[in-house]
Amino acid sequence: MQSDFSTDFLIIGAGFSGLVVAERLAAAGWKCVVVDRRPHLAGNAFDSQDEAGVLTHRYGPHYFRTNSRRILDYLSRFTGWHEVAYTIKSFTRGRYWSFPVNLNTFEELTGKSSTSEEFAEWLAANRVPISSPANSEEVILSQAGPDFYKLFFEGYTLKQWKRHPRDLDASVCGRIPIRTNRDDRYLTESFQALPDKGYTAMFGSLLAASPRVEVHLGVDSEEARRRWKHRHLIYTGAIDEYFGYQFGPLPYRSLRFEHEAFSAGKLREREEISGKPGFWQPAMQVNYPDADVPFTRIIEIKHATGQKTPASSIIREYPKDWTPGTDPYYPVPAPDSRAAYLRYAELASTEKNTSFIGRLATYRYYNMDQVTGMALAEADRLLTRYGTP
Ligand code: FAD
Ligand code: UDP
Repeated sequence: MQSDFSTDFLIIGAGFSGLVVAERLAAAGWKCVVVDRRPHLAGNAFDSQDEAGVLTHRYGPHYFRTNSRRILDYLSRFTGWHEVAYTIKSFTRGRYWSFPVNLNTFEELTGKSSTSEEFAEWLAANRVPISSPANSEEVILSQAGPDFYKLFFEGYTLKQWKRHPRDLDASVCGRIPIRTNRDDRYLTESFQALPDKGYTAMFGSLLAASPRVEVHLGVDSEEARRRWKHRHLIYTGAIDEYFGYQFGPLPYRSLRFEHEAFSAGKLREREEISGKPGFWQPAMQVNYPDADVPFTRIIEIKHATGQKTPASSIIREYPKDWTPGTDPYYPVPAPDSRAAYLRYAELASTEKNTSFIGRLATYRYYNMDQVTGMALAEADRLLTRYGTP
């Protein structure tokens, strides 16, 4: 078909949302140009080797998990998987704790061995009876009681969000499981694994299988919209930025990542703490809820990737305020920020031939599998509307 357009779809953002929707549209025969202002693929899931040769998640740890067969089957076309039981620890009161809260944590709190039944009884006596928890404070108080809330959640949440847990949706802390058995996995989904060669490599395979997708890195949305005349725009960046912050910037929380690499020699000095030769700390993630520690967590991703290398590296995450022009990592799940977002969403619904998908464009605290699902659904919708060329 002769086209007046230099591309059919122009897609802003080369993260999960942008690349998945591009692959689906291109597989149906449409030409897609994907741009990203960053110099790499994979959005926040970007991983690469650091100076010590350790495969590193550059924008915080990205633990893939899903309950969806469709999403897993789709991504499995571009990657194999390295299964991981994601386990972490919390560090407070000068010691490591089993986390999320489970029977081991209860024993650590009481200093004596217990059964699941005894822990369940203790919880029943200590929980705050709240039938429909309306915020993150209530969701933890109603499941685990004030001791665990104070120990692990209140300080961490205040640092991470600079908001009290009662001013955040219940879903924020509610995503952390509380269990009465000894299952200490951080996540609850049925499938938990990392792409066996990493996220960036997975998207490299997706693009290798998609000759109709052209990617331009280091290109901003404004420039792209001038350069490529398009039939339809798919925008995966921040929605307030798209509309020139006309109702003011939305609230976001940001992070500073502090990276440190260690040689095998240096790691030998940490063996007593890590309990494992070749590692710096005892788990892939240690959370630090205490108010006097400025970071929230330390990640040592080699525990999860299973990479065979004598070196290792860690990343400390320091929460910080977001300012326009910097990366907006977290939309803030709370009633006031949602109300502010809805004004932009209303504008977005009137934009012609434009789709808004992904974590930033829909202002949702979504995981990678959820944005993949959103991108697959949007591709289906667009193929119903435009058919095939
Ligand atoms: P992004 O990955 O943000 O990609 C959007 C891309 O658009 C970016 O690369 C950006 O540079 C580009 N862009 C934006 N605006 C413009 C513009 N104007 N012009 C050009 N390019 C633009 N999910 C999990 O499932 N498991 C986890 O363990 C997990 N951990 C996380 C830890 C952290 C610290 C963070 C911040 C997120 C985490 N997530 C996790 C969420 C995960 O990062 C997102 O679900 C996923 O990356 C969203 O993909 P996306 O394509 O919607 O957005
Ligand atoms: N959280 C907490 N203490 C912890 C871990 C998590 O209070 O030790 C709360 C905190 O508010 C956090 C939320 O639970 O933002 C979700 O935690 P998760 O580790 O899933 O956050 P993410 O990986 O998305 O940053």
